[in-house]
Amino acid sequence: MDTTDTFIQADIPVQPVEDPLLEESGIRLSVLRLDLLHPVISGNKWFKLKHNLAAARRQGKNTILSFGGPWSNHLHALSVAGKNLGFKTIGVVRGTLPEPLTACLADARDAGMELVGVSRADYREKTTSAFITRLRERYGDFYLVPEGGANLEGVQGCAEIPALYQDNSRQENFDLVCMACGTGTMLTGLSLTSQVPLLGVQVLKGEGYLAREVESALNRYQLKASCPWHIVDDWHLGGYAKVSPELMVFLTEYEQRHGIILEPVYSGKLMYGLFTAIKKRDFFPQNSSILVIHGGGLQGLRGYI
Ligand SMILES: *Cc1c(COP(=O)(O)O)cnc(C)c1O
Repeated sequence: MDTTDTFIQADIPVQPVEDPLLEESGIRLSVLRLDLLHPVISGNKWFKLKHNLAAARRQGKNTILSFGGPWSNHLHALSVAGKNLGFKTIGVVRGTLPEPLTACLADARDAGMELVGVSRADYREKTTSAFITRLRERYGDFYLVPEGGANLEGVQGCAEIPALYQDNSRQENFDLVCMACGTGTMLTGLSLTSQVPLLGVQVLKGEGYLAREVESALNRYQLKASCPWHIVDDWHLGGYAKVSPELMVFLTEYEQRHGIILEPVYSGKLMYGLFTAIKKRDFFPQNSSILVIHGGGLQGLRGYI
């Protein structure tokens, strides 16, 4: 669906980060600026959506339905991508719709997304056929994108990301590519085409949870990783979207120093974890060259102001 890429910035920079700590520890760090893809459809969300939108079009579906929380980067991106491509979109939101709406949901509604709040108990049933049947009775024939774009189409889109860091000569060879993981879909996709080993940072609680999710996705879709990958599960700072004062200070300082804005749920937690590990000096070998994927999603910052 190449025409859909026309509203996406094609040239994604890899930006070196200069910092005394990095110099002292002999580690090179660069950032793949996926946050610059599009003001709203930023980061990995476009990669997870693009083949879903193409499949919806092929199947002749005019409506796309998906799921997310009140600060969902995924619903936010879907609402605008859907609008740009002429789809009607429905966002099934976890919990009753907040009054007033979060800035995220207000944007989604402004982009034409129909918002439906469902109880947390119902939301947990969102992958069952009974719940989906009820949705179809109410909203007709829609194309369903799972929460977070976590399906085969999402994985296939993310398999296109390594081309941004390994297909040309202007870039150095990285030893490790690091990313924040929420569903693990991005890492699963990258693992199919990356020649560089991957490190995922699980941003939610659960020992070994996302490593198991990635394994089971690879099995389910009968795919094979092309590179080693690992997910650290204890850098989540207390759980999904939980922040500490230290994290917030780090993000402010990071922005002032490097001019790159990070949000605390994904990329900020990732960068904080990396800097903490680099400080400890026992995590990354000296002279490592690390690429960090900035996953975008800066709209979520508004939930912390
Ligand atoms: C959704 C998101 C992620 C996580 O991607 P998964 O494929 O769910 O693991 C990382 N960073 C940002 C900014 C995101 O919005």
